[in-house]
Amino acid sequence: MAKALSTIGYSLNVDMLDAIERIRRSGVKRIGIQAPEGLKRALPEIAKEISENTGVDVIVSGDPCFGACDIDLALCDEVDLFFHLGHSELGESSAKIIYLEARMEVDINEAVEKAVPYLKSKRVGLATTVQHVHKLAQALGVLKDHEIEGFIGSALCRVKYPGQVLGCCYCSARYVEADEILFIGTGKFHPLGIALATGKRVVATDPITCEVSLIDPDPILRQRFGTITRAKRATKFAILVSKKPGQRRWQLAIHIKELGNAAGRKMVLIYLDNIEPDRLLNLGIEAAVSTACPRVALDDAAKYKIPILTPSEFEILLGLRQWEDYTFDEII
Ligand code: SF4
Repeated sequence: MAKALSTIGYSLNVDMLDAIERIRRSGVKRIGIQAPEGLKRALPEIAKEISENTGVDVIVSGDPCFGACDIDLALCDEVDLFFHLGHSELGESSAKIIYLEARMEVDINEAVEKAVPYLKSKRVGLATTVQHVHKLAQALGVLKDHEIEGFIGSALCRVKYPGQVLGCCYCSARYVEADEILFIGTGKFHPLGIALATGKRVVATDPITCEVSLIDPDPILRQRFGTITRAKRATKFAILVSKKPGQRRWQLAIHIKELGNAAGRKMVLIYLDNIEPDRLLNLGIEAAVSTACPRVALDDAAKYKIPILTPSEFEILLGLRQWEDYTFDEII
């Protein structure tokens, strides 16, 4: 039974039958479930359904969830099995944690058709998020009708499926044998990430609105240059280390601390769960380097009064890396 979650205006399917079968087979008594904000509204109903079908107690995680990196470990400790809805698993896994991926049942033909006039190459790589990976073969067919050869990059680094990208990992698009990428999905962060991480030309098409855009990385690069320049005046830096298991980069954080100290900056390691502006208010810091999810520095920058840099941007600030060698922060 694939359950449709129509909480955000369109239908996302999650295989609840699989979840119920696993619970029955394992004979557990208590399970936890967690979902990202966009799917959370469906959790009470899902909890009821699982409970009625299996007799187990179901506990819903009430904390915010931003990705597969963000498992509620405290709840995980309290239960026999833990279901994470929406995302595919990252590299690491545990027998107790089960990922129930969401698939969007939207016809992508029109979105790909509309993107074709924007493509320059006859060899195009495809990229998408987990919700649409099952539609990439269909996209290849549309491109073929226009005599364009489509390529789907291998599942590398922390992604599970060929052609899949994450906000923190663009390996499938980087290594695919094409200089132009067609991104099929919603939002601008992923296609911008592909453009910045791979240096390839990126066309993005939204499968819901069929809106097509050519991605221009220059405005965000100018913004990042301005942030680095602003941070140069700071002497006291926080290094933000995430408590979320798939975002925790201690080794990198220690390395950044040593680089900063060697350059005469005061560096303090700050360990926190959800990184929000008010958490940084009373620390007496003038800038921060985030080793957590790349979106903290790159997507949420406007929320913060102080400059928040990625690790490689901090290296540019210290003169250890040239601006020309700017790299997008990835967790791979
Ligand atoms: S680190 Fe950020 S981009 Fe990567 S999976 Fe987690 S929330 Fe998504």
